[in-house]
Amino acid sequence: MQSKRAKIIATLGPASEKKEVMVKLIEAGADVFRLNFSHGTHEDHLQRIAMINEINDELGTNVSILQDLQGPKIRIGKMENGEAEIQPGQQLIIGTEDIMGTNERVSTTYKPLATDVVPGDLILVDDGKIQLKVVSSDGKEVTTEVVHGGMLKSRKGINLPNTAISAPSLTEKDREDLEFGLEHDVQWVALSFVRNAKDITELRDIIKSKGKTTKIIAKIEKPEAVAEIDGIIEATDAIMVARGDLGVEVLMEDVPMIQKRIVSKCNKLGKPVIIATQMLESMIENPRPTRAEANDVANSILDGADTVMLSAESASGSFPVESVQAMAKCIMSIEDSCSVVFNKFWEDNQSETAKNDMLVKSACQLSKSVGAKAIIGMTKSGYTAFSLAKNRPEAGIFIFTSDRQLLKTMNLVWGVTGFYYEEQKPIDETFDEVVNILKAKGLMESGDVYIHTASMPLHWQAHTNMMKLDVVK
Ligand code: PGA
Ligand code: MN
Repeated sequence: MQSKRAKIIATLGPASEKKEVMVKLIEAGADVFRLNFSHGTHEDHLQRIAMINEINDELGTNVSILQDLQGPKIRIGKMENGEAEIQPGQQLIIGTEDIMGTNERVSTTYKPLATDVVPGDLILVDDGKIQLKVVSSDGKEVTTEVVHGGMLKSRKGINLPNTAISAPSLTEKDREDLEFGLEHDVQWVALSFVRNAKDITELRDIIKSKGKTTKIIAKIEKPEAVAEIDGIIEATDAIMVARGDLGVEVLMEDVPMIQKRIVSKCNKLGKPVIIATQMLESMIENPRPTRAEANDVANSILDGADTVMLSAESASGSFPVESVQAMAKCIMSIEDSCSVVFNKFWEDNQSETAKNDMLVKSACQLSKSVGAKAIIGMTKSGYTAFSLAKNRPEAGIFIFTSDRQLLKTMNLVWGVTGFYYEEQKPIDETFDEVVNILKAKGLMESGDVYIHTASMPLHWQAHTNMMKLDVVK
């Protein structure tokens, strides 16, 4: 039986770090676990990594690990008694000295704040619930006027939509966290508050220098990144439309079109794209999503998302398993009833390197004309898997590789199911064997038409250069 094609990322946290909950999340349809490095110690994350590895070994699954680096997230310091009420019209001073905040003066974790802002800049606190306007800055502290007041709570996030931030995208903390993640072989690393392609190449250089092949997700959550989106998509392996911060940094009403434009660009280039944040927000407290939330998941799939993500719903909510179940149902309902998500045969450029892509596209077009049940690929680099997924075939995408790390990496990609295969045998035998593996797993049966793509000779391990059409005996 073919399962859902779009993938689900579930963020792990206190509500989901027990082994039995994690197993249930996987059974419900979670393909990737996100470790959010804005919270928790390396010890906490290490336990989660060990648990995921253990479960993958026991269940024979390939659930992927995504390390999400905090990036230059700016926060308010601690508040006296945890919170203080501020009123519209009053003055509020933000300093970098480490003091306990009051309703007149608070601190921030971001030291260059007072040199980065200019009078008139907006400072948004706690997802924009509290709005401040910069009146003046003396280079050490910033005097603001409160536009929208409210309860100012300890350690809430700050967004500076009109300010050019001088801090690097990869902070000291990120570098240390990255080293930890690479040491423990995470498959994906996401960088928060990316501003341009250089942020990605810098991260890629560090990953390479450690001898790793970890893939990169650029989180799009700043207006600068939206402006530089083409370069960022080219430099990265995948994109996340991080609507939480993005919706504060740009006008909230602009987020839907930004989402659609980014998804469409990624689809055409075959770069996986993730839609994140508040997808099933009300399920933090309720066992069922709102109708609007169910629509949001469905519409993101219709836009062309590879992957949809749960944050607090699975990390700290009361219904982590139900959230994954609800998300999976919304995805499958679209995929069962709506053909527009399938058969996207984008125009490729005619360059030498794109010739193999055209062969993969032909295989997908052929799979449509003959009603093939499956397209089987053999890969060393994973390229074939990404390339097949780009065309969104209705036929299942079954990828065989001897690289266990790659099997997990591919689990984030639309439609791809990976299988371990190591033998080095003549091509006819290999083809027969992988079909038998799929038959044994109940994914294909006698009479099913399928297409086999491969690179011949197999041991060259080059890009796909052949396809074969056959029927299961
Ligand atoms: P976060 O990123 O959950 O790490 O903030 C996602 C977002 O901002 O939408
Ligand atoms: Mn964010």
